[in-house]
Amino acid sequence: MATTPAFLEELLAGNRRHVESLPDEYFAGVQTSQHPDVVAICCSDSRIPQEHMWGFDHPGAVFTPSNIGNQVWDEDEGERIVDGGLLYPIHHAGTNVAVVVGHTGCGAVTAAYQVATGDDLPGPQGVDKWVNMLVPVVKEALESGLIDREADEETVINQLVEYNVDHQTQFLREAENVPADVDIYGFVYDFQGVYGNEAGCAHLVNVNGEIDPESIEKLVPAEYETATESLLF
Ligand SMILES: [Zn+2]
Repeated sequence: MATTPAFLEELLAGNRRHVESLPDEYFAGVQTSQHPDVVAICCSDSRIPQEHMWGFDHPGAVFTPSNIGNQVWDEDEGERIVDGGLLYPIHHAGTNVAVVVGHTGCGAVTAAYQVATGDDLPGPQGVDKWVNMLVPVVKEALESGLIDREADEETVINQLVEYNVDHQTQFLREAENVPADVDIYGFVYDFQGVYGNEAGCAHLVNVNGEIDPESIEKLVPAEYETATESLLF
């Protein structure tokens, strides 16, 4: 008998533990349909716990598309369209809250920044497509006056991450096939303590287009004020 590759066995064992850990009736409410309250588009980065960051531990709670650089769009025959992973739950599963989640230290934003400042695309082609779609966002950010270009690269990248979240949020707000009654929020997930708070805090940087931290602070209960900081304003 051939030996099982070590990591394949780890996957099988991990899934067995998962099966055994599930409470009875875990999927009872969602066996035949789903009505997630929120669609949250995140970066595919392995350090971003896409459901757990919100404390969700039940199936059907959050629709979880992700890609390189938490981009809300895709390209179809040269046309910039809203990504289907965002539109599906909004149009077919009753979801009316959309969330864009960037994160500190994002490799996609770093790559786009490097291209925007003269380096080559990282490759291969499938990666380059998504980095290329971010480059104009980074160039716009660098010309906006909001980025401290004299700062160290880590700071510049984290400011660009926040700018990108705002940009992606704005694209959704202006998109024809995102209904006007869908609430759209932008967050930066901080696993590095960049915002000065505990690692794991999702910083609220955009509420339906509102980006002023003091105005956002007024929209949330006082106990969450520390989650409304901005690196841009
Ligand atoms: Zn990332």
